[in-house]
Formats: sequence, C-alpha cells, structure tokens
Amino acid sequence: MAKFYFYYSAMNAGKSTILLQSSYNYQERGMDTLLFSSIVDDRYGQGKISSRIGVSAKAVSFDKDFDLYAYTKIQKEKNPNLKCVFVDEAQFLNKKQVMQLTKIVDELNLPVLAYGLRSDFKGEPFEGSMYLLVWADNLIEIKTICHCGKKATMNTRIDAQGQAVSEGDQIQIGGNERYIATCRQHFLK
Ligand SMILES: [Zn+2]
Repeated sequence: MAKFYFYYSAMNAGKSTILLQSSYNYQERGMDTLLFSSIVDDRYGQGKISSRIGVSAKAVSFDKDFDLYAYTKIQKEKNPNLKCVFVDEAQFLNKKQVMQLTKIVDELNLPVLAYGLRSDFKGEPFEGSMYLLVWADNLIEIKTICHCGKKATMNTRIDAQGQAVSEGDQIQIGGNERYIATCRQHFLK
C-alpha cells in the first residue's frame, strides 16, 4: 500500500532540493511523477519548483480551490506510469486539500510526499502543516541549523535592515522582507 509522507522543516533547509532529487530518482527508474506547488509562492515564476542550488522542474500550481485528488485521478487514468505525487510549499494547503491527498494515497494507491514549513514567523502553525502532521503516515524532519549551531525549528522574518519583524500577514513572499531559520531561544529573543 502507498504511504503519505510529510517532510517538514524551517526555512532554507533545502526542501525543494530534496523534493526534486526524489522525483528525479523515480524518473531515472522509468517512472513518472506529478509535482504540485502553491500559487502563493511565485518567487521563481509560476508552474515550476526551483531549488536554491539551481535545479528546477515543472509543477502544477494549486490555489485554495484546486482539487488535487480530481486532477491526479485524471492524470493517472491518462498515464498508468504515474507512480508518485510530490507537493512543495505544502504549508499553503488547506484542510480539504490535505484530505484530498489522503484519497490519492488510499484510493489511487499513489505515494504522496508533501514538503512544507511547520510554523510561520509568529510561531503559529500553518493550516496545511497542522493537518499534515495529523493525517500523514510518516513525519520526517529535514534539519537545518541556527547561526548558533543549534537545530533551527522556527522561522524569523527580518526586514531590509535585518531587524526581526513580529507583525504582519502570515503569508508574505517577495518584497524586502526575508526569513531566517532559528532555534527556539533565538526566535524568542
Ligand atoms: Zn540559535
């Protein structure tokens, strides 16, 4: 039986790189994969997943109304060689979409590997990640480190001057602000 995996981490841990490598491993063995990414993140242009080390691949963008199960079902009917589904920026899924992923695993018998951030810059869970933590079969942490050398579990938003920001919308991509992964102690400071 296929399994449902959630790979979670803080920012800049290399999630997209690991996703693209795993997808490539399937393709190298003659199996096709389906890649989804959130429409929210258009830093690199929509319709693709890009890693910071320069590798990229085409992906299907999802917004909050997109039905991942219906789309995947049609793709599998068209292509029986489709063997695995990957989701990048999985923190932006909503509850309904996480449940669609469970159906891809249980009804279409396709493994689903979702990659996302556990929490936002305020230390609050993302909707997608919250339900992925509940519904995935396997939870895998992708580790990265804080500037102090401890494991980074949190995401600090900083402004153009390098100052930590604690107010604002949960989702803010592009602009002058950026994120750094920190340990809990440095997040709270
Ligand atoms: Zn630290």
